Amino acid sequence: MAIRPIRLFGDQVLRQKSVPVVDFDKELRDLVQDLSDTMIDANGGGIAAPQIGVGLRVFTYVFEGEVGHVVNPVVELVGDEEQFGQEGCLSIPGLPFDCRRHLQVVTTGFTMHGEPLRVEGNGRLSVIIQHETDHLDGILFLDRLDPQNREAAEAAIRAAEWSGGIVPEIRLSPHAPLRPGSR
Ligand SMILES: [Zn+2]
Repeated sequence: MAIRPIRLFGDQVLRQKSVPVVDFDKELRDLVQDLSDTMIDANGGGIAAPQIGVGLRVFTYVFEGEVGHVVNPVVELVGDEEQFGQEGCLSIPGLPFDCRRHLQVVTTGFTMHGEPLRVEGNGRLSVIIQHETDHLDGILFLDRLDPQNREAAEAAIRAAEWSGGIVPEIRLSPHAPLRPGSR
């Protein structure tokens, strides 16, 4: 299929809430293929449809060499444990920062053929699932950084060649903390 241009931070499409997929048709299969191709070409661990300008609830991921996808994902946080590690985003190229995430999640959803799907994620895969599902709600990992890392990210983005010196809008996550007092 096709490698599509990746939308960069500052593009409003990355801040919009995507809508659920209704038609499991060829268009959807083409979208999944384009997402996979674009993700692999960019050497990313995951990519969500808004990152190529499509406002549908679909993401692809690659983990331990296996490429997967989830349509209409619903993520459930498992347990209370968190992890803290380096995270990056194809829409914020070359600027990884340490981000706090839940350690373990389960996502349910559908394949591009409309079959029910369940993916259990631990560690790195859990980060990818949380990161990509956030994209579908217009949330970027920058929104989840602690204040110090957020300031560093703002400065780094402003200085980055690809940003053209835009002053980016980083939002505080609209989500409730994972548990009271955890941030
Ligand atoms: Zn991302």
